[in-house]
Amino acid sequence: MSEKIEFVQRENLKEKPDPSDLGFGKYFTDYMLSFDYDLDKGWHDLKIVPYGPIEISPAAQALHYGQAVFEGLKAYKHNDEVVLFRPDENFKRINDSLNRLDMPEVDEGVLLEGLKQLVDVERDWVPEGEGQSLYIRPYVFATEGMLGVRPSYSYKLLIILSPSGSYYGGESLRPTKIYVEDEYVRAVRGGVGHAKVAGNYAASLKAQTNASKLGYDQVLWLDGVEQKYIEEVGSMNIFFVENGTIVTPKLNGSILPGITRKTVIELSKQLGYDVEERRVSIDELIESQRKGKLSEVFGTGTAAVISPVGQLKYGEKEIVINNNETGEITQKLYDNYVGIQSGKLNDPQNWRVVVPKY
Ligand SMILES: *Cc1c(COP(=O)(O)O)cnc(C)c1O
Repeated sequence: MSEKIEFVQRENLKEKPDPSDLGFGKYFTDYMLSFDYDLDKGWHDLKIVPYGPIEISPAAQALHYGQAVFEGLKAYKHNDEVVLFRPDENFKRINDSLNRLDMPEVDEGVLLEGLKQLVDVERDWVPEGEGQSLYIRPYVFATEGMLGVRPSYSYKLLIILSPSGSYYGGESLRPTKIYVEDEYVRAVRGGVGHAKVAGNYAASLKAQTNASKLGYDQVLWLDGVEQKYIEEVGSMNIFFVENGTIVTPKLNGSILPGITRKTVIELSKQLGYDVEERRVSIDELIESQRKGKLSEVFGTGTAAVISPVGQLKYGEKEIVINNNETGEITQKLYDNYVGIQSGKLNDPQNWRVVVPKY
């Protein structure tokens, strides 16, 4: 087993929140993982420290030029065992994001080991209720106090933990209403759409606010050039079931390569479905629906896992999918996915990573 990393204990532990009122991202645990970078030492000083405010230069480059990336994954508790789901994929992706913003990559093994030790310390914070989990947020930002436009010479990586409730509040899947955005775009090829960059979210908020005002849950983004091809939903990738075939937009550089997307594709194939990754235009989708070929639409992402879509609005057109009910394939994929995550079903691919007791 690996060496224990430095652990700075806090004086008093916090009171745990009411498990029936967790929501998402509201509460944080007692500790966080901290890792620093500078040009001389590279990544150094990996340690578990009390969760709390940090000091930062007012000139820190992240605040001015946006060198900031993040990740999101979850830990689950089942039969007193705490597991992570495909964490290696998140650390691979954080390195892709870091690389794209000209930030220094981290050793994925060191980071995973640090995360396991942090989650071990915080295992009492992992909620056990149906659909509940400990949300894990790793992120890296530029800390050098210097206003020249060039990559920062110093960075901080933190991992914070937040006990979170079920996305569906313990109820069955609820179809969402989606607004197809035809004015703003999220990303363009050659840009940073494929990286989990903080600024992508900043760029998306206005459209999300407009859609919310009109009564829609999320925005569906079209490509940034022709505004014709479907890319993804707010913080989810998107799938369609057309004539029984599962279809999802092919990764093209502006779509975020979701780990849930990747897992759903693998799982769908194992369950015997045909899966196509290709370009899908919004016109094709509407035509498909008109001809009765479009039976299901769903989004995929760490937070909701799989989220059925019941309605889509594009310009003047409003379409209802599967009578605004959760489709059979959507439900089956959700049950299998959550079954593997929670440890109720077999995990032949070893997607689950058990957090050891150190
Ligand atoms: C994180 C994210 C997703 C989903 O990725 P997962 O790895 O499945 O959680 C999809 N789209 C965007 C824009 C994202 O930031």
